[in-house]
Amino acid sequence: MKRIAVLTSGGDAPGMNAAVRAVVRACAFYNLECFIIYKGYQGLIENSIDKANARRVNNIINKGGTILKSARSSDFRTSSGRKKAYNNLTKNKIKSLVVIGGDGSFNGARIFQKEFNFPVIGIPGTIDNDISGTQYTIGYDTAINTVIQVIDKIRDTAISHNRLFFIEVMGRDAGHIALHSGIGAGAEEILIPEEDRGLKKLLNSLKKSEKTGKASSIVVVAEGDKTGKNVFELASYVEKNLPDYEVRVSVLGHMQRGGAPTCFDRVLASRMGVFAVESLIAGKSSVMVGIENNQLKLTPLENVTKIKSATNKDLLRLTDILSI
Ligand code: ADP
Repeated sequence: MKRIAVLTSGGDAPGMNAAVRAVVRACAFYNLECFIIYKGYQGLIENSIDKANARRVNNIINKGGTILKSARSSDFRTSSGRKKAYNNLTKNKIKSLVVIGGDGSFNGARIFQKEFNFPVIGIPGTIDNDISGTQYTIGYDTAINTVIQVIDKIRDTAISHNRLFFIEVMGRDAGHIALHSGIGAGAEEILIPEEDRGLKKLLNSLKKSEKTGKASSIVVVAEGDKTGKNVFELASYVEKNLPDYEVRVSVLGHMQRGGAPTCFDRVLASRMGVFAVESLIAGKSSVMVGIENNQLKLTPLENVTKIKSATNKDLLRLTDILSI
């Protein structure tokens, strides 16, 4: 009987548990033995491995984070660390590995697969939605919904005091979270890593908002926005240039990673988890599961890279129109 192991690695994301559940249950359905590995690649090196049956994953589809724990493993970046990981897999007679994580985890998976010719399949789990080969990653939908709920609350207090809020959201390299949550929450301006539209434009837009009688303004800023200023520097820049504005800053931070996954993420994770197991059964390896136009698909791990949003320009144009 084939033995499959599953782990979660890198930054955690809501919906990872739903994916773990789907992998474990699909294994049970197809009469495969399933093993769960704790703490990502580090757990693999430390032989932190348990056998899991279908009941082991009861009541986790609705839970944020990952019950398997996630970790960043510097040992796995060394060949001696990866050798230990390989030895533990063979010791447990595990024949293939499902890695749920982001692009960093897939880099590790690709290297490991090449070194030991060990079958690996990836499932994209990251709130950043910045991986090629899939339109959506698990956790992204939950994160943007968390962000709009928080911005809605901040908007209430902003309106009551005629304030301008700069809200920093996650996204060091990609502006997906900022763009989508910004449009969803009706932000006046959105600053992202992919495009610098200039501080002058920001000032002009805020001046216009003031003139047209807006009671509040919200500027959503991705962590890695391209203006070269962080959210606090941006706020003091605007305060200096537009002294009439009362400016406040809110950094959302790790709350964006947590919480119960949305229905979208639960369904996506369930589909991807089952597809991963079925793909391994069909003999596929060194691929990542993705979704495009609602169809599941596989992309070779070596073609999977970190990507930026292709829809930036269009969504930024939308903000300009809607924030009038
Ligand atoms: P994410 O998967 O969320 O992008 P990381 O970039 O932290 O997160 O990667 C997760 C883990 O994957 C790392 O801690 C490391 O163990 C492994 N990894 C990443 N890149 C490599 C690499 N080039 N070689 C070996 N392992 C890697």
